[in-house]
Amino acid sequence: MTTKIGFCRYCNNQRMVEVPDDATEELINQEATATCDCYRAKAEREKEYQKEACIANIDDMLGKKYPEIASLLKDSIDAIQASKIKKITVNTHFNQTIRLQKAKDGIKVELERKLKEESLA
Ligand SMILES: [Zn+2]
Repeated sequence: MTTKIGFCRYCNNQRMVEVPDDATEELINQEATATCDCYRAKAEREKEYQKEACIANIDDMLGKKYPEIASLLKDSIDAIQASKIKKITVNTHFNQTIRLQKAKDGIKVELERKLKEESLA
């Protein structure tokens, strides 16, 4: 590891960062952005965190049993975060309804089951 000077991608402030000896300029700037306290860098980290949380929720609910549905929902996260999609609803053949939508503090994942046909799932 070595100490280098990188620039935040958003505010262009320079920051000292610890990076591997062979780090590229891109990685150095990425690290500088990841540790910067400016508004946009923080907002971007928050978005990244919400995305990870959403992916974890989707995997918990569907990942093992229905990987193709999980992957479809994960692919829509970026568009939801970019405010291009308000809500995605997937009706499965396993009597489930899954909704993904933007909430105040992240992305809400809801799974609804029709209980009377649960035995068919
Ligand atoms: Zn910054």
